[in-house]
Amino acid sequence: MEGLNRKANLPVAADGCASSAGSAAAASYHRTVDSRCSMARGDYGQTAGNGAAGNGKAAGGNGAASGSGNGHELKVIKDATCTFCGCVCDDIDLTVEGHRIVEAERACVLGKGWFLNHDIEDRPACLIAGQPASVAEGIERAAQILANAKYPLVYGLSDTTAESQRVAVGIADWIGGNVDTTTSVCHGPSGMAFQGVGEVTCSLGEVRNRGDLIIFWGSNPAESHPRHFTKYSLMPKGQFLPNGRKDRTAVVVDVRKTKSAKAADIFIQIKPRADFEGLWTLRALANDVELDPAQVEADTGVPLATWQDLMDRMKRAKFGVLFFGMGVTMTRGKHANSEAVLALTRDMNRHTRFVCKPNRGHGNVTGADNVVTWRTGYPFGVNLGRGYPRFNPGEYTASDVLARGEADAAMIVASDPMANFSQPAREHLKRIPYVALDPKETPTTRHATVAFTVATYGINVPGTVYRMDDVPIPLRPAFESPFPSDYEILCGIERRVKALKAAANGLPQRRASLRPAGA
Ligand code: SF4
Repeated sequence: MEGLNRKANLPVAADGCASSAGSAAAASYHRTVDSRCSMARGDYGQTAGNGAAGNGKAAGGNGAASGSGNGHELKVIKDATCTFCGCVCDDIDLTVEGHRIVEAERACVLGKGWFLNHDIEDRPACLIAGQPASVAEGIERAAQILANAKYPLVYGLSDTTAESQRVAVGIADWIGGNVDTTTSVCHGPSGMAFQGVGEVTCSLGEVRNRGDLIIFWGSNPAESHPRHFTKYSLMPKGQFLPNGRKDRTAVVVDVRKTKSAKAADIFIQIKPRADFEGLWTLRALANDVELDPAQVEADTGVPLATWQDLMDRMKRAKFGVLFFGMGVTMTRGKHANSEAVLALTRDMNRHTRFVCKPNRGHGNVTGADNVVTWRTGYPFGVNLGRGYPRFNPGEYTASDVLARGEADAAMIVASDPMANFSQPAREHLKRIPYVALDPKETPTTRHATVAFTVATYGINVPGTVYRMDDVPIPLRPAFESPFPSDYEILCGIERRVKALKAAANGLPQRRASLRPAGA
């Protein structure tokens, strides 16, 4: 909070870098980062480069000398936002001592790990070919790499703010590149299904207040989203569920008995890779289609009577919710499975109110979907090479573009493809010049031509993230980082790329927006 106020006093820059924002906090953020972005690049490079090197050490030992007995100022940040998972809990009270978070009240075990293990790393803000450089030099080199590429790729974006995502898509647009997010390796199939079928949905607040039948399919929130049950879906007493858990029926459908299955009233263990068949069995029952019991059991591994019992409960529910995870989207059938979930939900609304929601993993992967869709019309895997967006997962998704050896440069934002892409994709990424922005050293930053160390969103950087139910949530950072935010770096790169492209095309610089064809 203190940081936000202090930053808000900075002069407002008349720069086209920032988007309009929906919240006061976000607006304050825009003013802040714009003013920082508007500094002369030489000054900025010096400040950030030197600051990172110097403050990195200070963070370890010196800090502000007031307040607590050990010489550090003690402050409490109320209602901070945890960005570790898609629940994006915004009720965490952080106790901050200098540059360390010493308490994260109400955070789950994963959230505590996220906050309490946060450290300011003692490394340069920028490395070019492994050698320390100023941020300004890094921005210049990054812009040259991207502007001169024939088929550049922008990838990642799920662990940063919506404001940064917006600028990154702008860069992809200016360089006529490919833009893809980590959605393509988790809920990409759902992104395709939404476009084909549509989504009957609601906010997590409605689930909390109304959901009396909660189904988790191919999803294990007890381990991946530890506060999902207690904050939204199972335990809370809601407006129409005064007895909380007692008023809800929980069902888990999965291929193995997970920790979530142990917390459910009903566990249905389906055959591996039979999600499509299970979902279509329910669709048939919802539409009173007669089924052969032997065939259903052979296809799904579950007796027809069990499916019928579930369907009866679904029809009786006042407000049914189906949460689905990567057990649905990343198994055989992929987008056909997601389409089946969406179509089943639509079918159920002939009987009662029923909604579905993907359980999203990364803190702002939902924001990435929203921002990329807002800017291009498509959620991920978008090619802007012809001056207009083209969407084709499999062709324009990052892992495929790299594995086929097509991209000749890349910018990776807040993601680590070197740790999880296929061998051919990783090998190709190693061969091409690329830029990486990340708060930590990772296999991806290690091999990058230009690697920026950036401040951590939510802990050091304000902005906006989208909860898994598409609700935008403001971030309330705990303390400032000596490193620049990725937003600042991206703004700098975007400005230089625009200038380079304008010079190459003999055009005046314009505001960043989707380019007209041929520009
Ligand atoms: S459930 Fe997720 S967002 Fe909430 S505190 Fe735990 S890790 Fe953070």
